[in-house]
Amino acid sequence: SFEAVPLAPADPLFGLAAACKADTCDRKVDLVVGAYRDDNAKPWILPAVRKADAILANDPNFNHEYLPIAGLPAFTSAAARLILGKDSPAIQESRVTSVQTISGTGAVHLGALFLAKFYPRPQNQEVHLSSPTWANHHQIFTNVGLPLASYPYFSAKTKGLDFEGLQAALESSTDGSIILLHACAHNPTGVDPTRDQWVKIAEIIRKKRHFPFFDCAYQGFASGDLANDAWAIRYFIEQGFELCVAQSFAKNLGLYGERVGCFHFISPPSPSAADANKRIASQLAILQRSEISNPPAYGARIASAVLNDEKLFAEWEDNLREMSGRIKDTRKALFDKLGELGTLGNWSHIVKQIGMFSFTGLTEKQVLKLKEESHIYLTKNGRISMAGLNSRNVEYFAIAVDKVVRE
Ligand code: PMP
Repeated sequence: SFEAVPLAPADPLFGLAAACKADTCDRKVDLVVGAYRDDNAKPWILPAVRKADAILANDPNFNHEYLPIAGLPAFTSAAARLILGKDSPAIQESRVTSVQTISGTGAVHLGALFLAKFYPRPQNQEVHLSSPTWANHHQIFTNVGLPLASYPYFSAKTKGLDFEGLQAALESSTDGSIILLHACAHNPTGVDPTRDQWVKIAEIIRKKRHFPFFDCAYQGFASGDLANDAWAIRYFIEQGFELCVAQSFAKNLGLYGERVGCFHFISPPSPSAADANKRIASQLAILQRSEISNPPAYGARIASAVLNDEKLFAEWEDNLREMSGRIKDTRKALFDKLGELGTLGNWSHIVKQIGMFSFTGLTEKQVLKLKEESHIYLTKNGRISMAGLNSRNVEYFAIAVDKVVRE
């Protein structure tokens, strides 16, 4: 019998989101879940996505057939071009295997499963995660039986990157470890390495023969510039690395619930690369088949319509600039308000950090007070989803923060 099954704790993030939803105070502020909101705190359907939707609705050839095991080819190939660049040597030399997945989570999982099965770890090499990282990374890699380790990332002192700590950890880990890297807009800190720092990270990874695993959930959403947000991945590929990428279209297309993602494996340049890719693709197909048979079609069709149509693509780029621009403006507004209020401490990290999240530096006690006294909801590590702030509530939030840091 199942008497011994212990009760698992509820997911802390979604539990908090539910508590916020149940709060009837009309001043409440939801800074929990990383989903874009417009200036009226409402979900936003991207205009480019609306148009793609209309194209599908009017397509006489539309049907509800299964997709192939590896997904919709028009989508996966466009997704590879998007992340690696149209002129990527890896694409030209047929060194890329792409498999459509259940959004970014499914891509991380498929990659984890593949590594668990095929990545040689003679010394029980670990998967190194940044400290902190997206909480689900721990569960996903643990579920496939890979051991975890962590590398320093966030400096509580500077509220920026602990680059010294990061370098030392990568240097001292066993050769051939798996290193999970956030391609841009690091979750939960909003802190990214500079290009010079990426170059140094690549040097260490090469020297140590580590395997880089990029998680990219915010391309275009972070800076508003698709190429800029993919810079680190493209740099590693130019440097000839063997690597993999988990790509999500949840944030940048606003397709959260459709679960559109892609897993890419890139072989290093070699005469046998195309052959290696064929073998890797065949194994990924078996893993995919045993888990989901074939990926969901609708979201991939929307993404494909946007990515493969020049006009819709250009409109999408405008939409990305609008989302990232609103978030940057909100960061500035929050920083200015805290400045006006003379709030204790240095808040420059609010404008230096990038993407959906800010690691505010608020303590667990202060976070609790914000909830109890002001109906403001954020995770207890002090992370706020910037998208939950807008021109109407940013002052209310700043005043509440000012109060809790003074107490
Ligand atoms: N990785 C990171 C770092 C993320 O922040 C997210 C989104 N929270 C994901 C992966 C995957 O999200 P999804 O499965 O919704 O694409």
